[in-house]
Amino acid sequence: MRRACVSVDLDGLHHYARIHGLAESALDARARALHLTVALPRLLELFQAAGVRATLFVVGEDVHGPGAEVLHRAVQAGHELASHSHTHPYALARAAPGQLDEELGRAEEALQAVSGRRPEGFRAPGYTLSSPLLQALVRRGYHYDASVFPAVPYYLAKAAVLFAMRLAGRASASSLDSPAVLWAPRQPYAPDVDRPYRRGTAPLVELPMAVTPVLRVPFFGTLLTSLPGWAVRAAYRAVAGDDFLSLELHAVDVLDGADGIPGALLSVQRDVARPRAEKERRLAQVLGWLARDFQTATLAEAGRALAQPAPEGA
Ligand SMILES: [Zn+2]
Repeated sequence: MRRACVSVDLDGLHHYARIHGLAESALDARARALHLTVALPRLLELFQAAGVRATLFVVGEDVHGPGAEVLHRAVQAGHELASHSHTHPYALARAAPGQLDEELGRAEEALQAVSGRRPEGFRAPGYTLSSPLLQALVRRGYHYDASVFPAVPYYLAKAAVLFAMRLAGRASASSLDSPAVLWAPRQPYAPDVDRPYRRGTAPLVELPMAVTPVLRVPFFGTLLTSLPGWAVRAAYRAVAGDDFLSLELHAVDVLDGADGIPGALLSVQRDVARPRAEKERRLAQVLGWLARDFQTATLAEAGRALAQPAPEGA
């Protein structure tokens, strides 16, 4: 059974401001809620049209804000809510155990309040895992983690941006992961609790985000909405033969300048500035390919199926 999962990191624009060292005060309350009040309804429409149920990685502190109604609607439509921490701290992987448990515990309570159930899965802010973070997930009974992003071009681009910002004397909230992530398995695996980017015996499954074999080009929303059609088709051909494909999207994949995003952010986050109609057309096309070529499932469903031993003779 070949499975494809679609997930969305529901990051507010203020987290992008933090990455780029911009003042969060440039964003008013309306702009800070755009990812839930405007982007999420658009994504739910795209998913419904493609017949795809997705996994939504929600920042716990957003749950009781202006997006509560849309999140509730997403649960009703069969989408999965999973944890993206409580306040989206980029340094979570390096946090003390007390802060880790607080970030995870508060997000669990918030998500339980809106969906009626504890989250089964987790994705780390900035995709950065660590042994203490993985151990906390195991201790708290998570079934899967979906933080691993073994993408070489993404890693190099992030390193270059952070280096340039340091030279320019600008501080970023973001930080670079260990290069060990670049050799992490591309397909689901049981991680080593001491070295999360290697295979081991942890009692949860790691569900990595899609990257192509060999060159490890990430097949994710930013690439789909930025590259020309022929390049997206080529990248899809490279990952379409895998048994498991996890497509990661962001709320900004369906936002653009017309939504009232401050110019300072549009000028540094170029994928956000691209016209929304074009981005939505591209996403609809790719969701159609996934629904045609794979059985689509939420990450929780895929994780549960992978944890089962294969039936006799399969
Ligand atoms: Zn995030």
